[in-house]
Amino acid sequence: MVTSMQWPVIPGQTPIHLPTDEGPVLVQVAEIAGSPMLLICSQQAVKIPIVRFHSACVFGESLRAVDCDCGVQLVAALHAIVREGGIITYAWEEGRGLGIEAKLRAIALQQEAGIDTAQAFARLGHPPEPRNFENHVAVLRLILPGGPVRLASSNPKKVKALKSAGFEIVERVTLQVPDTPERIAYLAEKESALGHLRQ
Ligand SMILES: [Zn+2]
Repeated sequence: MVTSMQWPVIPGQTPIHLPTDEGPVLVQVAEIAGSPMLLICSQQAVKIPIVRFHSACVFGESLRAVDCDCGVQLVAALHAIVREGGIITYAWEEGRGLGIEAKLRAIALQQEAGIDTAQAFARLGHPPEPRNFENHVAVLRLILPGGPVRLASSNPKKVKALKSAGFEIVERVTLQVPDTPERIAYLAEKESALGHLRQ
């Protein structure tokens, strides 16, 4: 008999079933360091889940801006976890955690000076990648205490955050996203300025 594995329920929380264009997922919410975060999971638990840390981006996700890949990455991550099993952690941290106002200031400077995101962050006195992803690791640990994962990311700080929390990364999953000239430029910047691993 095949028994299906279930993800643990966060104490005090009630998971909901959410049908999406990519298929059904389970959603739970938890407060981490005073901020709500979502755990978006495949319906069935798997032994080696795909894990994706996602930061909210209203332009990419809701307004479908063509020059960032946040919206298409989120859809691709949903697609992957629905088919192969996995978990997306979702934090409301616009502008790599600096907030929506700082994000708009950086974009304005980029447009004015013809520079990239990392250069705009630097001119405004921010590090290129202000996030340490400890909040994502903390919410993930509520349902997955450790063990092997398939990481859907090329961000070395996400690799570091998972490894130092005792997760073994057995595979790096490349999400398939449609390319546009603007996104290709942004991905090239993430490789050169943030040390992202080549896909
Ligand atoms: Zn974005």
